[in-house]
Amino acid sequence: MAAKEKYVEPTYLECGFAELDHKVVQPELCCLCGNCISFCPKIGQKDRKPTLLEYDPLCGLCYAYCPRSFFDRSHFEEKLFCRSRGVDETLGIYKTAAAARATPAKGQVQDGGVVTALLVHALETGVIDCAVVTTRNSRWQTGPRVATTPEEIIAAAGTKYTITSSVTGVQQAMDQGFTRIGFTGTPCQIQALRKVQLLDEPYQFGQEKIALLVGLFCMENFDYPRLMQGLVKETFGLEPVDVERFEIQKGMFRAISKGQAKEVPIEKTDEYLWKGCGPCFDFTAELADVSVGSVGSPQGWSTVLARTEKGQGLYDSALKSGAIEAKAVTEKGLALVKRLAGQKVDRFDRNAERMKSHGQKFDVKR
Ligand SMILES: Cc1cc2nc3c(=O)[nH]c(=O)nc-3n(C[C@H](O)[C@H](O)[C@H](O)COP(=O)(O)OP(=O)(O)OC[C@H]3O[C@@H](n4cnc5c(N)ncnc54)[C@H](O)[C@@H]3O)c2cc1C
Repeated sequence: MAAKEKYVEPTYLECGFAELDHKVVQPELCCLCGNCISFCPKIGQKDRKPTLLEYDPLCGLCYAYCPRSFFDRSHFEEKLFCRSRGVDETLGIYKTAAAARATPAKGQVQDGGVVTALLVHALETGVIDCAVVTTRNSRWQTGPRVATTPEEIIAAAGTKYTITSSVTGVQQAMDQGFTRIGFTGTPCQIQALRKVQLLDEPYQFGQEKIALLVGLFCMENFDYPRLMQGLVKETFGLEPVDVERFEIQKGMFRAISKGQAKEVPIEKTDEYLWKGCGPCFDFTAELADVSVGSVGSPQGWSTVLARTEKGQGLYDSALKSGAIEAKAVTEKGLALVKRLAGQKVDRFDRNAERMKSHGQKFDVKR
């Protein structure tokens, strides 16, 4: 039987916040992307969980667009790429894979500074009229920002390894009147916004204004209070304000402070993980216009997968303008990305039992 015949989406009236709460929030499957909080005025956030502010018996927006309620990947691939992936396409569909870096990197970028360079280029060439980015304060507390200048995009460079409801910035951008909104974020956030764009549900709240999705590779993310207390303060003996940079490289989680690195093997950080990251099968933000990550390329470079026409066009234009430079990604580099992507799917499979017991449906056949 074809995947499509087996797969039935709940209609928008079948499931509402009660189902979301029962199937996603209470079992700690929520990735706190911010989708439901953004686009439904009756949902807020309390104790780092979506919470109902006002009951509405006729609305199922939150459940429909949640990336953890149900997800038919091949359906979205068919809509986005006009085909679903072949069996060998374990990183999803893409047109170009390359190692790239900004020339020169602007701001305190994490790897090759490609995300920042692509967003600045998109803004300067009119592909977008703002970019929703994730910023931090001196204590590494994070939040979304609607960046409208290159300087504001540059100020958000660098990875923050803590869960952030960045999608709420898209609603802020809509409220501010922007009509070509660029967004960068983790795979769950990209899934959330693609679902908003591509699902056959009759909600209209301005999703046509989302113009560009730049995805980040992501194996996992962390809970701010636990990471800062348990790892940064107790294990590393640092205050968050002392940390200049966090990085995960070669199996180590590292904090750099005053030029000195404190590190632990990544397995020792399990207790600080955000629980809702377990049930995620997407390492490379497979539904983004263009995906960017660290693994697979040398230090100071980023691995780039240009996926859609729009993503390829932006990548080509940034190359042509000299905003970025690129070289071939090696076979070994690509094999490493594929290995990590496979590990994430394996972890999803282990968590799938927990999800199935709550009735969610996911089509992520390999
Ligand atoms: C939580 C997390 C886990 C990651 N894990 C991996 C991994 O396992 N393997 C791998 O290869 N790469 C991983 N990455 C991606 C990697 O850290 C870099 O973001 C990527 O290589 C792009 O580098 P860059 O220099 O081009 O980005 P930059 O030019 O420095 O721009 C980074 C952008 O990331 C955005 N951002 C930062 N933190 C967050 C956040 N918490 N949520 C949403 N957006 C954010 C900012 O808005 C900024 O625009 C992860 C990223 C995140 C946020």
